Amino acid sequence: MRRTLFTGEHDTFRATARDFLAKHVVPYFPAWEQAGLVPREIFTKVGDLGVLGMQIPARHGGAGTRSFLYPAIWAEETARAHVNLGGLGVHLNVVIPYFVSYSTEEQAGRWLPGLGTGALMASIAMTEPGTGSDLAGMATTAVRDGDDWILNGAKTFITGGVHADLVIVVARTGEGGDRRDGLSLLVVERDMPGFTRGRNLDKLGLRTQDTAELFFEDVRVPAGNLLGEEGQAFRYLTGNLPQERLAIAVGAQAAAEAALDTTLAYVRDRQVFGKSVASFQNTRFELAACATRLEAGRALVDRALVAHDAGELSIADAAKVKVFCTELQGEVVDRCLQLHGGYGYMREYPIARLYADARVSRIYGGTTEVLKTIIAKSLGI
Ligand SMILES: Cc1cc2nc3c(=O)[nH]c(=O)nc-3n(C[C@H](O)[C@H](O)[C@H](O)COP(=O)(O)OP(=O)(O)OC[C@H]3O[C@@H](n4cnc5c(N)ncnc54)[C@H](O)[C@@H]3O)c2cc1C
Repeated sequence: MRRTLFTGEHDTFRATARDFLAKHVVPYFPAWEQAGLVPREIFTKVGDLGVLGMQIPARHGGAGTRSFLYPAIWAEETARAHVNLGGLGVHLNVVIPYFVSYSTEEQAGRWLPGLGTGALMASIAMTEPGTGSDLAGMATTAVRDGDDWILNGAKTFITGGVHADLVIVVARTGEGGDRRDGLSLLVVERDMPGFTRGRNLDKLGLRTQDTAELFFEDVRVPAGNLLGEEGQAFRYLTGNLPQERLAIAVGAQAAAEAALDTTLAYVRDRQVFGKSVASFQNTRFELAACATRLEAGRALVDRALVAHDAGELSIADAAKVKVFCTELQGEVVDRCLQLHGGYGYMREYPIARLYADARVSRIYGGTTEVLKTIIAKSLGI
């Protein structure tokens, strides 16, 4: 069905993104997968294209649009090309919004221009070895000492953690009546003494995405690096969740569509018992079912994109969209891989990569189970 939410300008941007990825990413991607990391220069190249600065105010060098449609197009085109640009998606869709929303004017002048060009890459560190879903249970602390905060703790699974120049660290700075009170956001800079990175974690999929452990031992973070108000981090995190989860849903939907496309080409080509795999009734039914379910996912994502731009996407809405699209992605890539036979298990075929990369969508940004508890709560139960 025809999508109705994009204008001619969006189509032009999509064509530019597609062309850029085909020229500057696709040919090099296998080597980056081997290296387990994308090269640093790719971020400034994407920055030159204007992608990273889209949501940054014009006075700080960006395009100043709050619309999420451009980042969504970028995510779709990346998935369509079967590539992943490391921590760039988190930098763009998750981290920049914190800087835009909560920086003081001085902080905005210091950080936003670099974040928009890719000269500065940033990550967000919430998860700890001892706590992921239960964020309020985090053990990282920051204690005020004169003009500084003294930060101690460890974070894990941090996307972009190897490349990051700035890390927004969520730390406990006080106690409150509620466990969710007393958390704050501190911006840790690359060379601050006491800040070290562990290894680039060895993952099942997303092989070009650096995912790191981060350690903080008596790191002196200047008071000027507190992002937003002290003790308000939980509220800020909650406020940004709809976009973070919508971004994952957009990527999941696009990756599942890419799985269908690559499988259609494969089954037409592959001959078994003297016939194409596409000619078997099972194949036709399987792919017809995938295509039908993907139309439903597409309708949901597009509706959510419009609602988000209108400021109407609630936390429960975004949870529903993420659960639906990521579960659908898992189902579609599995059915599509099956139709490839043994070749589907070989990484040289895109479906193998799509299958491995899909698994985490149901885990990060809130697991399916945690999101179901949010949806249930919105139902009053
Ligand atoms: C590749 C990757 C990238 C990531 N990037 C980042 C990042 O950039 N920054 C960051 O801070 N974090 C990041 N994460 C962490 C991610 O957000 C967490 O892994 C996720 O929130 C789950 O937390 P956990 O791993 O501790 O699982 P746990 O919380 O230990 O959950 C274990 C199981 O218990 C279930 N469970 C938990 N609570 C409930 C409940 N109330 N009811 C029912 N079941 C429940 C979960 O659904 C899950 O099945 C990343 C993770 C991965 C794998």
